[in-house]
Amino acid sequence: MAQKNTWTISGLKSKIHSNYPLAKKTWLGVGGPAQYYIEPDSFDDLTMVLQNKGKLPVTILGAGSNVLIRDGGIDGIVIHLGKNLAHYTIKKQTITCEAGLSLMELARLAQQNGIGGFEFMCGIPGNLGGGLKMNAGAYGSDMSKLVAQIKAMDTVGKIHTIGPNKKEFFSYRHSRLPKGWIFIEATLIGVKADKKQIQQTMDALREKRIQSQPQGVRTAGSTFKNPTTAPAWKLIDEAGLRGYTKNGAKMSEKHSNFMINAGSATAADLENLGEFVRHEVKKKTGQTLQWEIERMGKDG
Ligand SMILES: Cc1cc2nc3c(=O)[nH]c(=O)nc-3n(C[C@H](O)[C@H](O)[C@H](O)COP(=O)(O)OP(=O)(O)OC[C@H]3O[C@@H](n4cnc5c(N)ncnc54)[C@H](O)[C@@H]3O)c2cc1C
Repeated sequence: MAQKNTWTISGLKSKIHSNYPLAKKTWLGVGGPAQYYIEPDSFDDLTMVLQNKGKLPVTILGAGSNVLIRDGGIDGIVIHLGKNLAHYTIKKQTITCEAGLSLMELARLAQQNGIGGFEFMCGIPGNLGGGLKMNAGAYGSDMSKLVAQIKAMDTVGKIHTIGPNKKEFFSYRHSRLPKGWIFIEATLIGVKADKKQIQQTMDALREKRIQSQPQGVRTAGSTFKNPTTAPAWKLIDEAGLRGYTKNGAKMSEKHSNFMINAGSATAADLENLGEFVRHEVKKKTGQTLQWEIERMGKDG
């Protein structure tokens, strides 16, 4: 069926783009276009989009650092929550911020205000919304440890406040946001700490990353979740796939659970490599790897 290629909403201030290339919006740098693409200027505009979407499916994109968008692109509306929706307030050790704020900026703000507990975010290139969705974490901490309250919008634009009961809401690289809901704001509480000490901790964590992870490459971080039995990188090593490359898609030599677009890979090349790794790891170790990268859209 032919797709409509223009769409307008009366009174909407934010621009609606048609057939918008998404590859440049993701860290892996691959993927086809969005049928419609919007970076809302305000939550009022976000609400209007949701209330006027009809039957069009909605996909949310943060910083695009944990997604693999397929070569055929994404039907319906892609909504990017980024710097337009990144306001924050800080009161003592409490930071309330909008979903488009970057986690690295959040770590920086916490340091400047002598708030401890946010240090682990300093090397994670996502936004708050994506961080909450993935329960992003590193070096023994994750988002669930700081979150006191969340605001989320449902599929028709109504705003809900979520407790959250941390035990039920968050788990390893996962949150139980109802399908189609969008994180719009969170209140995070840290602890009073010495600014210099926070800076030292962040410097040490950054150094650890530089030593153990590939730098300056197109990647989406860890490709697979760590099974409870062994880290994913170890299983990939056991399967002999460290550094394995096919069609420009590569498992990093420096960190074998990092998949890299080494230049010319398509989304299909990257996804095929990931599935090949899963297959080989299962064959050689008996373990099943689960994707941590979120794959979305349709094949090219
Ligand atoms: C170099 C590198 C290092 C990384 N290191 C780490 C690490 O140490 N720890 C870690 O946990 N991750 C790491 N990641 C992965 C990634 O940065 C995190 O998962 C991050 O939280 C994703 O945020 P994002 O804004 O980029 O989300 P996206 O990649 O844009 O989206 C991820 C998912 O979240 C959903 N989403 C995004 N925003 C919202 C919202 N507002 N409401 C509802 N759903 C939303 C999307 O639909 C998608 O399903 C790394 C990635 C890279 C490239």
